[in-house]
Amino acid sequence: MAFKTIIEPFRIKVVEPIRRTTREERDQALREAGFNLFLLRAEDVLIDLLTDSGTGAMSSEQWAGMMRGDESYAGARSFYRFEETVREITGFKHIVPTHQGRAAERILCSVMVNQGDIVPNNTHFDTTRANVENVGATALDIPIPEAGQPATIHPFKGNIDLAALEHVLATNAGGVPLVILTVTNNSGGGQPVSMANLKAASHLCRSHGVPLFLDSCRFAENSWFIKLREPGFADKTPFEIAREMFGYADGATMSAKKDGMANIGGFLALNDDAFAQKCKNLLILTEGFPTYGGLAGYDLEALSIGFKEALDEDYLRYRIRSVAYLGERLTEAGIPLVQPPGGHAIYVDAKAMLPHIPQHQYPAWALSLALYLEGGVRSVEIGSVMFGRKPDGSEQPAAMELVRLAFPRRVYTQSHVDYLAEVLIHVHQIRDRICGVHIKEAPEVLRHFSASFEPVGGDLLAP
Ligand SMILES: *Cc1c(COP(=O)(O)O)cnc(C)c1O
Repeated sequence: MAFKTIIEPFRIKVVEPIRRTTREERDQALREAGFNLFLLRAEDVLIDLLTDSGTGAMSSEQWAGMMRGDESYAGARSFYRFEETVREITGFKHIVPTHQGRAAERILCSVMVNQGDIVPNNTHFDTTRANVENVGATALDIPIPEAGQPATIHPFKGNIDLAALEHVLATNAGGVPLVILTVTNNSGGGQPVSMANLKAASHLCRSHGVPLFLDSCRFAENSWFIKLREPGFADKTPFEIAREMFGYADGATMSAKKDGMANIGGFLALNDDAFAQKCKNLLILTEGFPTYGGLAGYDLEALSIGFKEALDEDYLRYRIRSVAYLGERLTEAGIPLVQPPGGHAIYVDAKAMLPHIPQHQYPAWALSLALYLEGGVRSVEIGSVMFGRKPDGSEQPAAMELVRLAFPRRVYTQSHVDYLAEVLIHVHQIRDRICGVHIKEAPEVLRHFSASFEPVGGDLLAP
């Protein structure tokens, strides 16, 4: 008998209470936070889907591993365990630990990217884009056209547009220091990249002598989607698939706060000896000695175990299924989403849901505020607040206005997901009352983290 219910493949040993608040309290909290969900106190949030980054629950094995952490400044046993695990999965020669993904990005960009260069990517994540632009280069997003059509179903919507890539490489000889493929494509809806696309991108890069890097934060989820959706991979393990994916690249950056299943950590991995030496020198300057890179020995232990747990089939089946389940409930209720649902998150299409709010009044930002006000749910805008300000200071609306509901790993259960569905369906029913917002104050870069806002009419919901 094969039972159809996919269960959480763990039982709970430690619990952390979450706090209910009244609507009045949430209204007050929003005003105090300048209508910016990043500036809320986490205690005032009931279900926190701001990000899946560093918010997961560690396993009993990981906690046990932390007690074995070797805190030696140089040459710690925990580093060698970390290095061995990352090398086993990625196959790369040099493994450089960093405190999180953006540290790896900053080092990589400082070493490989120059002013005036172009860095193509399926879609740059916000920190990746900021790091590319910080050295004066252009971050070019070239996903396949389907990636920009939320309702279009495509099994590998994270794919890079190969014709566009070939064109950039052919017309900018010497001006493209590297190509990045983000797996899964976070800003583009958590959508996977196929092995065929990876292979073809790798071939193009090699024929132009340009290195290919993976932004590999969700390498395990991407492997699972390849196993489920790409012909020829059904009988391979996620580990084998991951290994093959990395095999098409020359290096990778990683935020181990995602598929490292830990609360902090990352790495930069690469094959090139000369670049690796430069990266390690810079690491010593700003992160730490190359055998800890800004991490504690116990973090390195938790990560060595976490990378393997992220590739466990029961875990991946449960994780991808719980996101898909929410996606199905919302789709049945007529809520416009990026289809099909991504690996780590649901992306609500706020442009389609709130056509009465123009893009310069940030519909996705307004929707994320309404979800908090009504249900205590925290999500994140991926739209014109995050991406609408160009490096020259001009405003240009983002291609899509999305609200991302990202699932922390191994944290919430089925009933939490049912509650979420209820909140979203309710907010969808009152969508005509949601008002746009404008920016009161904002910093020049990565403004979504700290800007303050005001509802256009003073109140977020019209009566
Ligand atoms: C989270 C993330 C990063 C940045 O990593 P941090 O650990 O937050 O610094 C880079 N790329 C992608 C795709 C991410 O999801």
